[in-house]
Amino acid sequence: MKIGVVSLGCAKNLVDTEIVLGFLSDRQHEIVNDARQAEIIIVNTCGFIEDAKEESINTILEMAALKENGRCKGLVVMGCLSQRYTEELWAEIPEIDALVGTNELDLVSEIVEQVASGERVLKKTDAFFDYNQAYPRMSTTGSHFAYLKVAEGCNHSCAFCVIPAIRGKRRSRTLESVLAEAQRLKEQGVRELAVVAQDTTAYGRDVGTSIVELLSRLADLGFPWIRLLYTYPTSITDELLELLSERTNLVKYVDLPLQHVSGNVLRNMRRPGDYESTRELIKRIRTKIPGVTIRSSFIVGFPGETEEDFQQLITFLETERLNHVGIFKYSREENSTAYDLPNQIDDDTKEARYRKAMRVQQRISEDLNQELVGKRLQVLMEYPSEESELVMIGRHQGQAPDVDGVVYVGRGTLEPGDIVTVNITEAHAYDLVGEEIDEGELA
Ligand code: SF4
Repeated sequence: MKIGVVSLGCAKNLVDTEIVLGFLSDRQHEIVNDARQAEIIIVNTCGFIEDAKEESINTILEMAALKENGRCKGLVVMGCLSQRYTEELWAEIPEIDALVGTNELDLVSEIVEQVASGERVLKKTDAFFDYNQAYPRMSTTGSHFAYLKVAEGCNHSCAFCVIPAIRGKRRSRTLESVLAEAQRLKEQGVRELAVVAQDTTAYGRDVGTSIVELLSRLADLGFPWIRLLYTYPTSITDELLELLSERTNLVKYVDLPLQHVSGNVLRNMRRPGDYESTRELIKRIRTKIPGVTIRSSFIVGFPGETEEDFQQLITFLETERLNHVGIFKYSREENSTAYDLPNQIDDDTKEARYRKAMRVQQRISEDLNQELVGKRLQVLMEYPSEESELVMIGRHQGQAPDVDGVVYVGRGTLEPGDIVTVNITEAHAYDLVGEEIDEGELA
């Protein structure tokens, strides 16, 4: 059958999509890019915050319309939203032919066949999916790049977050299983590996190993670039920073979702730290890894956030000048601890704080990008630009896929997966423009 898949949400969810695609292709189904050509459409949903839930519902309805005016014979919905709102989705959207949660990745291909023969299937298993098995996986990110999911679930209890309720407590994969998958990806030609989990720095605590051991073993496999995403502030040890600094193929990039810097808000968020400890942490990272790129994300409008708390965040952004920052408006989620907190912030204030923080950071990101003009950077080529075949799109080490900007480079003979030296000639708030330099010119 021809199967179309829409994957929403984060990189961890995308790995699940790729596993489902692997099982489907093992059963000889054909994966099509254009949903209008698909006989069965699968939507892997996200259910983290309000905007993500809305996007998931809209996508489900959009795909359901293809049952009326397209070739689609069946709609399968999976992922975080269906794990969280199973009964509601099943009852309220009759166009859904099969609904599974987050743990049925190995069952989706059979369910697709049941749907094709006219059944309506609701399947949620009690056991977690076993990521330690050597499951099939089909890349959706090109052959040069892959995410490596090293654990699932989370043991923290951040007040705004429903992930532990959806995905359960942390379950690290064994070191052997992660390394075996990494080795397979290396043999398939992957040049950049991005290590992901809800909190990557907690990897291994439940299976007798650690993120430091894992990263050092991954670095030995010889990938040109390995990137660590989703770290947790109090787990950034000196040992980890020293490893990131010493090993040349661990990219000098720290992804550190801080959520806030005011001690008052962090306490209410049930997260560690305050303004001073956060500044100390940034200083320690920069001292241990000279030239490091730091990305963070912050929530504005969390219950009880005063003007003073918000101003502290703005001062932090202005003084610390982080390279990349994501700002999110607090989303009041049912069954999260913060749902019942007093002093919820009204929408207008949230919006105003969001806009202000975005404006402040945009100027900083642009200034920092301007400082790169005239510098020579290693750039990993990803794909030709959709606007012009003569232009290739790539990323330097300080740009993570999807969330940061890109570098535009004249195509010449460049192919996806090439890592070349690029002279940066132009900078914008997010993206850069540059030209390839012959290795010979570098001397
Ligand atoms: S660290 Fe906090 S925000 Fe991140 S997944 Fe765990 S509970 Fe949620």
